[in-house]
Amino acid sequence: MIHRLHRFFALIFISAIFACVAVAQEPPLKSIAYRLSMPRPVSHLFEVSILIELPDELKDKPLQLQMARWSPGRYGVFDFAKNVQEVHAAAGDGSKLQVTRVNDQTWSVEPLGSRRLTVSYKVFGNDLDGTFSQLDPRHANYNGGSIFMYVVGHKPDPVKLEINAPPGWKIVNGRTERPGQTTWQFPNWDILIDTPTEIGPDWTQDTFDVNGKKYHVMVHSFGAEGGKRPALVKDIEKIVRAEVGMWGPPEFEEYTFLIHFAADDHSGDGMEHLTSTQIIQPGALGEPGVYESTLETVAHEFFHVWNVKRLRPLELGPWDFTRPANTRGLWVAEGFTNYYENLMMHRAGLRDDKKFLEKEATTISRVEYYPGNRLMSAEESSLSAPFIDGAQHVQATNLRNTAISYYPKGELIGMVLDLLVRGRSKGKASLDDVMRDMYEEFYLKSPNNSYYLRGRGYQTEDLQRVLSRRAGADFSDFFKRHIRGVETLPYDEAFSQVGLRLVKTAKEPVDAGLWIEFQDRKAIVSVVMNNSPAEDAGLQAKDQIVSLAGTNVGEDWQKTLARFKPGDSVPLTVKRDRQTIKANLVLRQPERFDYKIQERPDATPEQKALRAAWLGRG
Ligand SMILES: [Zn+2]
Ligand SMILES: [Zn+2]
Repeated sequence: MIHRLHRFFALIFISAIFACVAVAQEPPLKSIAYRLSMPRPVSHLFEVSILIELPDELKDKPLQLQMARWSPGRYGVFDFAKNVQEVHAAAGDGSKLQVTRVNDQTWSVEPLGSRRLTVSYKVFGNDLDGTFSQLDPRHANYNGGSIFMYVVGHKPDPVKLEINAPPGWKIVNGRTERPGQTTWQFPNWDILIDTPTEIGPDWTQDTFDVNGKKYHVMVHSFGAEGGKRPALVKDIEKIVRAEVGMWGPPEFEEYTFLIHFAADDHSGDGMEHLTSTQIIQPGALGEPGVYESTLETVAHEFFHVWNVKRLRPLELGPWDFTRPANTRGLWVAEGFTNYYENLMMHRAGLRDDKKFLEKEATTISRVEYYPGNRLMSAEESSLSAPFIDGAQHVQATNLRNTAISYYPKGELIGMVLDLLVRGRSKGKASLDDVMRDMYEEFYLKSPNNSYYLRGRGYQTEDLQRVLSRRAGADFSDFFKRHIRGVETLPYDEAFSQVGLRLVKTAKEPVDAGLWIEFQDRKAIVSVVMNNSPAEDAGLQAKDQIVSLAGTNVGEDWQKTLARFKPGDSVPLTVKRDRQTIKANLVLRQPERFDYKIQERPDATPEQKALRAAWLGRG
């Protein structure tokens, strides 16, 4: 993987040179105007037309339009072109122009001397999500990367948008300035697709102010709200206050939370943007647990206003949408955001100390159990994002044994670094200071390195430098061992700074190296751990376990195994395709542990003071 990446970067470098030459020779287009219509919501077909005015120099050259292969914030490749149909083009006088499909994501049009042309197409969308789009009789909710083609070589050009909504449907997005607005002007295509939009007859909007900035909470509920919306809006305001309290004033005048309660048990997502976020909850607001889950997502996505949307790894924008993005920094961009999600819920008064520490202990239990945690470093996890962030695999993979997600892993790195910085600086600094320093240096003060955004991106070496400076201690060894290497994080050292300790207990008395999922009440092997009893027994993913230790396999199968001890042999029968196979699991010592964060009996007053500052409410 790393080996191939060297070649990959070499390719980017070469193509970047050619791209610069091409852009330098080509003047901007005179105008690019998108028109979005949805005349037949039941078909799930968005209708897009792009009116393009060409400068004289380009009226005889072929023009290429492309659908992105992926879109920012999610790193899996989705090939949005697969949902495009009926691509047509016409000249300014209405005469038809030839459209040629060049490759999987690109169409080419010959203007034949016309200074104006229109390219039109339909795009199917029926996913309510932070990356895809949905049009149905209830609403239209789109994420621009999945429906708007860009003109190749002209992503930096300004673009206009006009939306023709069905009668009675209202439009809202994070760049709406007045009620009834149907047209927008964006500085470039990247900002167009950074502006997800909701169009529907019956969404609601609540508004509040924090330090002179306006926040809108758009809610579209497909299930019962149980009267909880006013309280939800109040709690969202608490989160906004906590996060603005840490970072300082955000760089916008207005911000919009676009929240859907899908009530469908499967749609669930959160996606960050510069002046808005898309949040989709699978349940209904009135259902148990949905309220808190929504606030957690709000705490996470709003933190991205700074961390990732503005303070960003070098490779995150502007992007090449013909290949997946590769960055080493997602354990900071997503992982630290996960840590602050928990911390900000606590600072906003929505979570007590006990719940905050339990959440972190649960993340430790998860991460330490994953075998991939000992094979894949935080930086390598980030570079593997196209495979592990929402990617669909038709081919069987061994990622459950080899990969670790940068979300929980980066969350723990963030917590450990926060505690170490607090300890080393004797309480004078924390990760908050490090993040603010980074924001100031790279976003606010660095010269712009592209058309897309202010400042420039950072590299993980930059974070190492800023951290070391703030803590007054050298963190290069930490980065070598725990960021670029796979050594276990120094939890004991970190927790002892604040008079706490990590305690582990075995979750089960034995280990079988097996994960089982239940599908239609059938016990299906979902993961066989490498070098485990299950692998020794010849088990494979997708095997159906028919009997275990002579009994049927139920959801409590681990209790069945708990009757045995390490070294015991447990008979089982599995169905694989049309075969019935008998095997024996020779159980081993437990490998899965439950972690708890506890008070140290010998905690000093200094350590307790550091803990009070860590878990203070600012
Ligand atoms: Zn909606
Ligand atoms: Zn995130």
